[in-house]
Amino acid sequence: MRELPAAVVAAIETARQRSSDPLALFIYDLDALQRHVSQLMAALPAGVELYYAIKASSEPQMLSALAALVDGFEISSGGEIERLLACPTRKPYVFSGPGKLDSDLRAALHRQVEAIHLESLNEIARLQRLAQQAGRVQAVFLRINPELPPTLSSKLAMAGTATPFGIDESQLAHAVALVDNASHLQLKGFHVHAMSHQLRVERHEQLLDFYLQRWPQWRALSSKPESISHLNVGGGIGVDYLATQQFDWQRLCRHLAQRLAANCEAPVVRFEPGRFISAFCGYYAIEVLDMKTSHGKHFLVCRGGTHQFRLPVAQGHDHPVIHLPRHAPARAAPAQAWTIVGQLCTPKDVLSRDCLLRGVGIGDILVLPLAGAYGYNISHADFLCHPRPAQVFLQAEASGAGGVRCE
Ligand SMILES: *Cc1c(COP(=O)(O)O)cnc(C)c1O
Repeated sequence: MRELPAAVVAAIETARQRSSDPLALFIYDLDALQRHVSQLMAALPAGVELYYAIKASSEPQMLSALAALVDGFEISSGGEIERLLACPTRKPYVFSGPGKLDSDLRAALHRQVEAIHLESLNEIARLQRLAQQAGRVQAVFLRINPELPPTLSSKLAMAGTATPFGIDESQLAHAVALVDNASHLQLKGFHVHAMSHQLRVERHEQLLDFYLQRWPQWRALSSKPESISHLNVGGGIGVDYLATQQFDWQRLCRHLAQRLAANCEAPVVRFEPGRFISAFCGYYAIEVLDMKTSHGKHFLVCRGGTHQFRLPVAQGHDHPVIHLPRHAPARAAPAQAWTIVGQLCTPKDVLSRDCLLRGVGIGDILVLPLAGAYGYNISHADFLCHPRPAQVFLQAEASGAGGVRCE
């Protein structure tokens, strides 16, 4: 079973004492987030950058904690530009995503975006027009949807198959020519974000090898190849929600270092993961309201539910659960398989099935770890007019010993 950090347990106890109703809240351990990202950064080979894709979680406290450490941010909407502008530390940011609005592009041009990732031939013409109006020569990357070898595709594929993302490799020469000929666009790099949930480091190594092998061909499509310096390899590093062993980032970085050292025309490589950066620092804590047996199955009905934490249903998995009993359970209490559900009036409101717990009772707290990415922010929190959960951000170092900042 996973261990809960003492600060998280203490924050749950504090929240419980302050609340008259049973608990449902998110806790983010910002110190753990900073330690984790520092390790990811320290492993990067020379000439490799790490940006954070803020759609995984863009809470202001999260961005402030990360801004000092990462090389930059990746965003996909005008709203996300606002989030970055509210962050006290300025960092470079890049803008990708399908269906960008003119107003978003204008905001990005006006707000010194480092690079805009162009996703279609139409978008090239549109950005050229807007950049000209703004009187700015804008650095751009072309997002490519390459022909991937079948062994490298994944279940949530953004490339190598028919998707709304990027420009098909077969149209890349045309796209490069359009950018080369656009007075207010400057092609700085290529971008491929091919998948999500990559759990296997060997496969990701092969994917990077494939991009690096293609790189000279992509670059040679331009009449000014020397000004194309960057290869953004996207995010997509997976989190294993059902195991404690996680993706071997150190190994990926060692592999990449070797490949880059052997390549005399190597690009600056940029990663932009979201999930793998912020997932580990988040916890969703919910209180057991009721327990019952129905048609032979045992249910724990808890405060909150999938309207606040949609991740397990979105992923189709049974989320791990850590049990914090209110009273020490009787020593001989047998383990029993529970289905953990929330307060919604739908049978789909299931957070975990067949979860083995010992001596669980009403008033106990269940903690769902790995809740820091695509958790609260992808959820439909207003469904059934339940109040939104509190979000608590723990940061001992910045706010003095045992500091807890609540929102
Ligand atoms: C969502 C997204 C990411 C981050 O994906 P993760 O799976 O969270 O690492 C990176 N780049 C782009 C373009 C994205 O859309």
